[in-house]
Amino acid sequence: MSPRRPADIDGIAAMLRDGATYREIHAAYGCSRGTISQVRRDHRIPTPDRWKKHRTVAEVLALNSEACEDGHVRWTGPHARGNPELWANGRRYNGRHEAFKAHHGRAPLGRVTASCGRPGCIAGPHLADRVIRDADAVLARILPRATS
Ligand SMILES: [Zn+2]
Repeated sequence: MSPRRPADIDGIAAMLRDGATYREIHAAYGCSRGTISQVRRDHRIPTPDRWKKHRTVAEVLALNSEACEDGHVRWTGPHARGNPELWANGRRYNGRHEAFKAHHGRAPLGRVTASCGRPGCIAGPHLADRVIRDADAVLARILPRATS
């Protein structure tokens, strides 16, 4: 998070507690979605119920994904036990699994990892499950030079 005056942090936290949207907080303080998310986490302010109930997985995924250089994508929403926490349709989802599903068109098998090596990356093409890792291992044996 970029350095901010404590008064700004307190103001952002107060707006979050009052249920302000990220757009409203950005208009007031000019801060990024990531900064607002960080303040929410630091102050343990729960996500407003309206987000949990009324947004679809695709909407929340889009709202909390920030494109980075080289095609990587960063999750700017909340985390729970190291995983992107995605609230939609009135329930919690694993954001990494939903990003995988959105790109690959199927549910992942086993753990979902960032095959690009960038911790926390949720870019669909960079996510691999057990099926993809196993297929890559087979390809590496058949075509050792092509996949190195
Ligand atoms: Zn990546």
